[in-house]
Amino acid sequence: MLPVSRPSIGSEELEEVKKVFATGWLGLGSTVFEFENAIKEYLGAKNVIAVNSGTTALHVALDAFGITAGDEVIVPSLTFCASVQAITALKAVPVFCEAEPGTLNIDLTDVKKKISAKTKAIMPVHYCGNPCDMDSLLAIGKKHNILIIEDAAHAFGSSYKGKKIGGFGDVTCFSFDPIKNITCGEGGAVVLADDAIAEEIRRKRILGIDKDTWHRYRNERSWFYEVTTQGYRYHMSNISAAIGLVQLKKLNMFLTRKKKIVQIYSESFKNLKGIRTLTWDHEGTAPFAFIIRVLEGRRDEMMDFLSSRGVGSGIHYIANHIQPFFSPYAQPLPVTETLWKEILTLPLYYDMTDAEVDLVARSVKDFFR
Ligand SMILES: *Cc1c(COP(=O)(O)O)cnc(C)c1O
Repeated sequence: MLPVSRPSIGSEELEEVKKVFATGWLGLGSTVFEFENAIKEYLGAKNVIAVNSGTTALHVALDAFGITAGDEVIVPSLTFCASVQAITALKAVPVFCEAEPGTLNIDLTDVKKKISAKTKAIMPVHYCGNPCDMDSLLAIGKKHNILIIEDAAHAFGSSYKGKKIGGFGDVTCFSFDPIKNITCGEGGAVVLADDAIAEEIRRKRILGIDKDTWHRYRNERSWFYEVTTQGYRYHMSNISAAIGLVQLKKLNMFLTRKKKIVQIYSESFKNLKGIRTLTWDHEGTAPFAFIIRVLEGRRDEMMDFLSSRGVGSGIHYIANHIQPFFSPYAQPLPVTETLWKEILTLPLYYDMTDAEVDLVARSVKDFFR
């Protein structure tokens, strides 16, 4: 069965991991700093803090920006549950909003309706890597004095109006989990301009200790440390960073191939009445996933049909406002309730062969024969 996604990793990554093994320094150290610098350069960003997942990136970013119990954070219901867990971890309140059917990105008309005196942040998700309307989001943030905390887990490598995602909102969080645009095995990064908050995040990622271990052990009083803030054990390891450094070098190659597959799918499906493809800024989108909307209640039927052809598919994602744990924050979201039952994710990853791409495209078309 063709998987929906698969990381492209090989001997180059293993070689770099071996080098870390040889140093005996597996945790937070020079390879992590090297990875942070490489991302900084790639994005043209001011501060990059590498952490151990996209979820922890969101959690530590919300915490460092002062989001706390009772604060409201507006978040689309149609996102990975990680976005919402990061909010509830701080006892803050997720205020679910709608997504736009054309892009699955955050619906700004609904965002405006959901702003209250308690709103501290908006968390847009760049769905499948297609950037949200950042100009409008930043204008809303400025007008109401609300933070824009971007969940850019899908969007590493994407650009908005010619500039890389990672330089728009107050803070941007990336994920490098196994299926994201690049992987560290598991990993994430927090990217922001504010130097003081960046320092706070550097402390928070390693238990609130005021200096990274690297610096500590180079001091003469190598045993000395101070705990100055609430912290977590969220730092990236040298092992993960070694994988990420190689992956970053392969990113353009990954994206070129994935964009080509997206082009083939889009071309193949353009005349199919029973499905909708998403509206994308193809130029700026580093494609994370290829999602179609299957109309007329036939999504699950299509999934079974594809499966019978050896084509795996997935659902990204089940609406969060209907999840049991988030039921205290549930509210009617008619658009999202329809959308999540239509969406189907098709296989898209670098190592797909032309024959496999063709099999997926043909199978989707055959479903309507
Ligand atoms: C993957 C993902 C995350 C979380 O990242 P992890 O590295 O898996 O913790 C958050 N939000 C979205 C939209 C994601 O797809």
